This record gives sequence, C-alpha cells and structure tokens, in this order.
Amino acid sequence: MNNEGNRTKRRVCVFCASADGVGGEFRQAAAAVGRALAGNGWGLVYGGGHVGLMGALADAVIAAGGETIGVIPRALEEREVAHRHLTELYVVETMHERKQKMADYADAFVALPGGYGTLDEFFEVLTWSQLGIHAKPCVLVDFHGYFRQLLAFLDTAVKHGFLKQENRHLIRLANMPEEVVPLLEKLWAEPPRVPGRPDRGESPEP
Ligand code: AMP
Repeated sequence: MNNEGNRTKRRVCVFCASADGVGGEFRQAAAAVGRALAGNGWGLVYGGGHVGLMGALADAVIAAGGETIGVIPRALEEREVAHRHLTELYVVETMHERKQKMADYADAFVALPGGYGTLDEFFEVLTWSQLGIHAKPCVLVDFHGYFRQLLAFLDTAVKHGFLKQENRHLIRLANMPEEVVPLLEKLWAEPPRVPGRPDRGESPEP
C-alpha cells in the first residue's frame, strides 16, 4: 500500500452514508468534519458521490476551499451519483479497485454514520491494519451514540475469543466532529503499531 510518492499533504479517507439519515444533524456532522479537514489544510478522499452524508461532506470541503478526491466505480458513476465538482474524480472498474485506491491515497481513515457500505469499508481497513498491511489510524465517529451497539458487539467478540483486545483497540473513537482533527494529530504522532504487540492498546473509550 503506497502513499503516492513523497507528498507532504495529509489526506484523510472518510467513509460515510450515501443516505442522509433521519433528521438534519447527521448531515450537519458530516459537513462539520469536512470543514475541519479543509480548515487544517488536509485533503479529503472518499467514495466520490454527491448523495447523502457523502455529498454534505464533500460540499463542505469544497466550500472551505479544500481538496476533494473521489474514487467511484463506473457503474455508480453511470447512475449519476458522482459528484461533479471535485478536485479529482477517479472512475474505476470495481469496488475492490476503489477501496485500494482510496486506501493508497489516505493517511488515515474516518468512518461517520452509515450503512453496509460504510461498515464494509471501515472493517476492511481495520482488517488490513490487524494484518499489518498498513499502520494508518482508523477513527470511528460515534456521533449521537450511533455505533454504540456495534462497539458493544465487538466487546462480545473479544469476550468469546474471536477478536483480540489489542485489535479491538485499533478502532479509535471520536464522539463529535470537532474531535476528529486533534485525535488524528495525536495518532499520527504516536509510534507506528507493530502487529501482534499491544503497544497502542490503551482503551480509546471515555
Ligand atoms: P452506505 O453506508 O451503505 O450508504 O454506503 C456508503 C459507502 O459506500 C460510501 O463510503 C461509499 O464509498 C460507498 N457507496 C455506497 N453507495 C454509494 C453511492 N450511491 N455513491 C457513491 N458511493 C457509494
């Protein structure tokens, strides 16, 4: 997994819903994350759509003058869900190619509320981290406790011996959009984790 040469600009890959969610607060939270990334001079890498939380996120980055890199499979682009005002839009052939490209561009992964797509993408980068394929921070934004039961389930998986405690802690938690930037700065400053060694195993939860 490369990091696109010797570039110095930070880029954050955000996974989030293609739907808006119920009520306006999820869109507002996605927009707040977008503004925070752009305000810090960091680029956004994401699924390239204009719909749902993805659209709110990308629109906020664009409005703040930030960089947006979208990676979308041709089938979704043809269904006209692609955002047309990004800095760069890569159209790829498969979902696997998309995930790989998003991961290559990113220095960290952030998941906001979402459904199957968001969970699939986030768990894939967690699995890659668990296997030592990358050592990039994986942050879950548990906005309004949206992921609370999922996190409780992961503790059940630890209890039953299917998930190692040290790998459970690969998920770093933010509760509010404004926590994302300081958390990423802290995580990037930490020494990279050595797979199999619980050197970053302190609990991320409050
Ligand atoms: P979901 O959480 O099921 O709404 O899926 C959202 C995630 O899957 C995003 O992070 C995207 O990368 C991808 N995705 C799902 N649906 C779309 C779509 N209509 N347009 C672009 N990307 C999508």
